Amino acid sequence: MTYHKITIAIDGFSSTGKSTVAKQLAKELSYVYVDTGAMYRAITLYAMRKGYILKDTFNVKSLIQDLPSLNLKFIFDEKLGFAAIYLNDENIEDEIRTLEVSNYVSRVAAISEVREKLVAQQQEMGLEKGVVMDGRDIGTVVFPNAELKIFMTATAEERAQRRFKEMKEKGQDVNYEEVLKNVTDRDHLDTTRKDSPLVKAEDAIEIDNSAWNIEKQFQKVLQLAKAAIDTVNH
Ligand code: C5P
Repeated sequence: MTYHKITIAIDGFSSTGKSTVAKQLAKELSYVYVDTGAMYRAITLYAMRKGYILKDTFNVKSLIQDLPSLNLKFIFDEKLGFAAIYLNDENIEDEIRTLEVSNYVSRVAAISEVREKLVAQQQEMGLEKGVVMDGRDIGTVVFPNAELKIFMTATAEERAQRRFKEMKEKGQDVNYEEVLKNVTDRDHLDTTRKDSPLVKAEDAIEIDNSAWNIEKQFQKVLQLAKAAIDTVNH
């Protein structure tokens, strides 16, 4: 009997721990993990470096013109234990995680031409199934037929606290208030944009992990994944 792999879509608000659980799950199931947020961050970093996106101005037209020349790929990094993102052959995994990139990314992610390019690449990466993909529109737009859809939420304060701790640990110079503002601003932009807004897919299972630790969350999601894989293989 052939063993069928499935597609697992994990969506939700910023800093809900989607990528942590998605990485754990992919490792446990020997699936491929795809961090779609990293792709939007990579395009944002490019726009910042080119000076297209500044505090008060955004040259959307030039960014759209450059899109065909931007090549994104993921290459597995032994040390990290997951795939790092490359923009035109440069490893930019660390640079895309700054608060500055976080502050601009939702504006870049609202551009339809950007979404069209990235969604097409994401769909291609998931063609053979066996993927855990996290983002905002995976269960609604990228893989509306995913066998398992999870929608993660937590209070804004809890999410900001987690993100703040993570950034501090990485040695970044940030304060809690600005991280909280970034989280709530992105919630607003991501849920109100015209193209593919962040919304729970009708058939997604919602998990509020405000009071959960990483292990409890992993066990819950693993149980859901095993049940979904069993369903497909029976
Ligand atoms: O997941 P992460 O926080 O790194 O995502 C960064 C931003 O990229 C989000 O706030 C959102 O604006 C955008 N994004 C998106 N669609 C996805 C993944 C991320 O619009 N599938």
